[in-house]
Amino acid sequence: MAGIYIHIPFCRQACHYCDFHFSTQQDLRSRFVDAVQEEIRLQRDFLGNETVETVYFGGGTPSLLPPEELDQILRTLHSTFRITTNAEVTLEANPDDLQTGPLARFREAGINRLSIGIQSFQDDTLRFFNRSHSASEAFQRVEQARHAGFDNISLDLIYGIPDKPLSAWQADIARALRLQPEHLSAYALTLEEKTVFGHWHKMKKLIPADDESVAQQFEYLMAELDKAGYEHYEISNFCRPGFISRHNSAYWRGVSYLGLGPSAHSFRGQTRQHNIANNALYIQSIAQGVVPFTLEVLNDAERINEIIYTGLRTRWGVDPSILKFQFGFDLVDRRRALLRRLEDSGWLMWQEKHIALTRKGKLVADQIATDLFIDDAELAELKKSF
Ligand code: SF4
Repeated sequence: MAGIYIHIPFCRQACHYCDFHFSTQQDLRSRFVDAVQEEIRLQRDFLGNETVETVYFGGGTPSLLPPEELDQILRTLHSTFRITTNAEVTLEANPDDLQTGPLARFREAGINRLSIGIQSFQDDTLRFFNRSHSASEAFQRVEQARHAGFDNISLDLIYGIPDKPLSAWQADIARALRLQPEHLSAYALTLEEKTVFGHWHKMKKLIPADDESVAQQFEYLMAELDKAGYEHYEISNFCRPGFISRHNSAYWRGVSYLGLGPSAHSFRGQTRQHNIANNALYIQSIAQGVVPFTLEVLNDAERINEIIYTGLRTRWGVDPSILKFQFGFDLVDRRRALLRRLEDSGWLMWQEKHIALTRKGKLVADQIATDLFIDDAELAELKKSF
């Protein structure tokens, strides 16, 4: 099985926290739509004979594309790849694009899952973020999506906002739950360097929320969603039973995927391809029949660390026998003392033969993963002793 990701690199306006690749100039949009279809044709052999189970339009703001352009791209995908009839086809959408007319046409085009960028249900926060919608609009559009027949809806929220009390986050969660989404993604705000927030931070005009209040908000989120019957299946992702994001979980399981469009990544076994993050250069290169990407070949230590990092973020955890079988790295043996310490401190647990994070461990997931990592020198040493 395989997945396809299509990056739509346009946004109405730039959110102050966002460092994804996008342009607010839309003059290249229709040339981009032609180029991405050409890239589909150029990349037709990338997935070999694998069946495509998920298609994901991300961005940027894919819902800015008129439904007929999405329809064209989907038709080209269907005529080029073997896409299963029950494939999960997700569209990331901003609330302001989800009027009743486009909603119906997105469905007709074959979109069966919406991932809606709500971020907050509070107008002052939305203005602070420079989002292009209001809180009431967001609420209303999710309801309209429901009426239009979407039965698999994910909402995105952001927490850890400077100067926002826990009560504001509690209100956001309560409003989100009232909409009964099948899936919810929640991300702690980070002040990325090349963003407006990053700039304000550098100028000392914006102070990040302290770790303790971010942790408190995350703990509240886990407890509330658990009470509401959601499964916490990945650090930032929760779902009602049966509504895991099939596309994202394929990433975490190391399944091959093809990324199309500027800045998209593709993955196959040991290699990752990174498409150029520039709309004009991308279009130019595709017009000459060349997909503009750089190739990254992952070495064994990088692959091991990726398995540890992504595995620990999921509720399935890490299966040490895979690391031993594939790379000769006996995690249990090599990290015995550390694993015991983490277990005794209540950060880590054994789930049958997998190691997974406890609720407390999820608060420091990155740190625990880094502590378990292996470097090239240790792996080389290990291989010598085989
Ligand atoms: S958060 Fe989404 S809508 Fe906002 S700038 Fe980033 S990609 Fe565009």
